[in-house]
Amino acid sequence: MTRAAVGEETSFGSGRISGVMSVTCGALGLGAVFCLLFPSFLTVADARALYPLPYIRALIHLFLVGGFVLGVISLCLRRSKWLGATGVTLTLVAALLGGSRVPIDGELTTGPYLGLDWFLLNLIFFSVIFVPLERLFAHRPEQSIFRKGWRTDLAYFFVSSLIVQATTLLTLKPAMVLFDWAAWPALQTRVAALPFVAQLLAILFVSDFVQYWIHRAFHTVPWLWRFHKIHHSAEAMDWLAGSRLHLVDAVVTRALAFVPLYVLGFSDGPVFAYVAVVSLQATFIHANVRFDFGPLAWAVATPRFHHWHHGAEREAIDRNFAVHLPVIDVLFGTAHLPAGRWPQSYGLAHDTVPDGYVSQLVEPFRSKKDAG
Ligand SMILES: [Zn+2]
Ligand SMILES: [Zn+2]
Repeated sequence: MTRAAVGEETSFGSGRISGVMSVTCGALGLGAVFCLLFPSFLTVADARALYPLPYIRALIHLFLVGGFVLGVISLCLRRSKWLGATGVTLTLVAALLGGSRVPIDGELTTGPYLGLDWFLLNLIFFSVIFVPLERLFAHRPEQSIFRKGWRTDLAYFFVSSLIVQATTLLTLKPAMVLFDWAAWPALQTRVAALPFVAQLLAILFVSDFVQYWIHRAFHTVPWLWRFHKIHHSAEAMDWLAGSRLHLVDAVVTRALAFVPLYVLGFSDGPVFAYVAVVSLQATFIHANVRFDFGPLAWAVATPRFHHWHHGAEREAIDRNFAVHLPVIDVLFGTAHLPAGRWPQSYGLAHDTVPDGYVSQLVEPFRSKKDAG
């Protein structure tokens, strides 16, 4: 009970929940106001026309009023004032910059942009789904939302959303430039003519098959492992932990997994649906939820299946490489899903990686003195 030091109480009525919610609302509101102030530089070009602006403005208003009120409640309840003060300050800065009524001036340009809107929307979407799910059905109920390393993982979530334009380009372009020769128009026409669901299922299998071998290479080739071990350095599993992927790991894996989809000529609709499925499932399989799914766990990758991929114990090493279909691991002899059991701990058993996004970004390029 040493955590119950003055100002550190976390129980209901201590002002912590209102403080955290105030900072969250204030940060989301301020971020959204920045998007309205600089839409050409901070929003995804293809998304701009899709926003229902009156609703977005109403939502920003709600965040700012909510952030302010919750901040004041936290300031009243809590002896340590920094949470409440931060939340109130964020909402006041957003209000001073124009709040929900800030006008959108000037022409929208189509040059390089940062996906701040993409980050805010994803953060809202995933936390609305996964935070309650992990609170209600936790595999490890003692694990807090703000567990060790959450700042690092949030930084990954933030940076990968901001640079979505660059990474999308790096994912799609290599296949189009380097593998155009491999395309066979007659086959592409047939593939594109398949029903939507058939194409989606085929994409899931093809991309997971390719992803399986790339992933396995990242585990077995020492200089590739230097990048991928960053993902395995997470010692706590939850929906945010899946974001921890070195830029090289993320870009190489996605670019290579896209090659067969491009060459085979799948239609845009099923490919977009697949992108939605993969981002949801990649998040879900890291989540701190205790669902078991019974025999279905052999049909579709689940949290317990992928948690074994992250297990620090010996039996978990180099197991369960698939993201969607465990059958691929069964096929190649790497499946490990002992009935009813979960790993004891997660992370790198005999290695360490520094904390923080930037330290982890440069880590694979550092001298080999402590590699191995
Ligand atoms: Zn791995
Ligand atoms: Zn993982």
